[in-house]
Amino acid sequence: MNKMKIAVLGAGGLGKACLRVAKEKKGVKIVAICDSRGFLYSERGIDVKDINRLHASNDPIGEIVKLKDKIGGIFVALPNLPNEFIPSVVRRFIKAGYKGVFSDALKRTRAVKLMKRLDAGLKRNKSVYITGCGATPGLLSAAAVLAAQSFIKVLDVNIWWGVGISNWDEYRATIREDIAHLPGYTVSKAKKMTDSQVERLLDKRDGKLELHEMEHADDILLKDVGVVDSLNKVSVGGIMDTRCAKKPVSTTMTLTGITFDGKKSSHRFILGDETSMAANVIGPALGYMKRAVWLKEHSIYGMFGSTEFMPMVVR
Ligand code: NAD
Repeated sequence: MNKMKIAVLGAGGLGKACLRVAKEKKGVKIVAICDSRGFLYSERGIDVKDINRLHASNDPIGEIVKLKDKIGGIFVALPNLPNEFIPSVVRRFIKAGYKGVFSDALKRTRAVKLMKRLDAGLKRNKSVYITGCGATPGLLSAAAVLAAQSFIKVLDVNIWWGVGISNWDEYRATIREDIAHLPGYTVSKAKKMTDSQVERLLDKRDGKLELHEMEHADDILLKDVGVVDSLNKVSVGGIMDTRCAKKPVSTTMTLTGITFDGKKSSHRFILGDETSMAANVIGPALGYMKRAVWLKEHSIYGMFGSTEFMPMVVR
């Protein structure tokens, strides 16, 4: 497999982290990136410090669409507020006839349902898209697929995550999307909040958001591959500390099931506390992108959920 030449849509917390991870890997080179105000293309590869010299544009995504023949993979690190936003961006690439692959770190169940509608267009272009390739869904839901193998029946999957960041400003979309899960909030309400309203909300909670019963696509992605038989057997929640980079709690995925000989037991996958959200999102997103390239090379095209395949490893 040749070095993947990729474009990153979004130059916020995850977009920048992707540049830093790619720098450590020989198998991938980021040749294009954009944010809401500008874009950059460089055949030689883009470094984090280059973020300051994006070319201003009214339609930065449109500029990346124009580069479609120079790009083999796209990592979508855009906010998904509203749920239709990322599907609408992908539709632009499909319409332009882009033939490369995609991965994203989409989170919401409803957003993943919308992504599935893009299957026919991707197939027409001989393109591959793997969705839900972050930490949850992504790394943790992949671990659940593995864990399920020991059991005849899976009773439930419980994901409880801890994330610590030193400033909410580093991951604005992530924080807004988390706020949308609080009781009394919705995706559209969170999108409309001004920065000072977000700050006030965080102030009232000492910078912490504790979230339960999140609408996370781990449920649909695990149901699609038969790990659970109904969406309500998967629960996702966690604690986000926006004022301290140390994780407030360890991140765990616990799958409970019944074995063939009638034993009830649980497998637990625990992320190392030192691993950041960015490390646990970007690694899988690139690993799944490499899998998408592999699928394309094997003439398998269309829209897939991350639980359908193991991620590969980008060296
Ligand atoms: P961010 O707010 O830090 O960055 C978003 C970037 O997108 C910014 O650079 C912004 O300028 C750019 N952008 C916004 N609108 C744009 C447009 N119309 N055209 C071009 N660029 C545009 O976001 P983040 O915290 O890095 O999160 C990115 C996404 O990753 C979010 O949707 C978040 O939910 C998701 N995420 C997933 C996981 C997971 O485990 N699955 C974890 C963390 C974040």
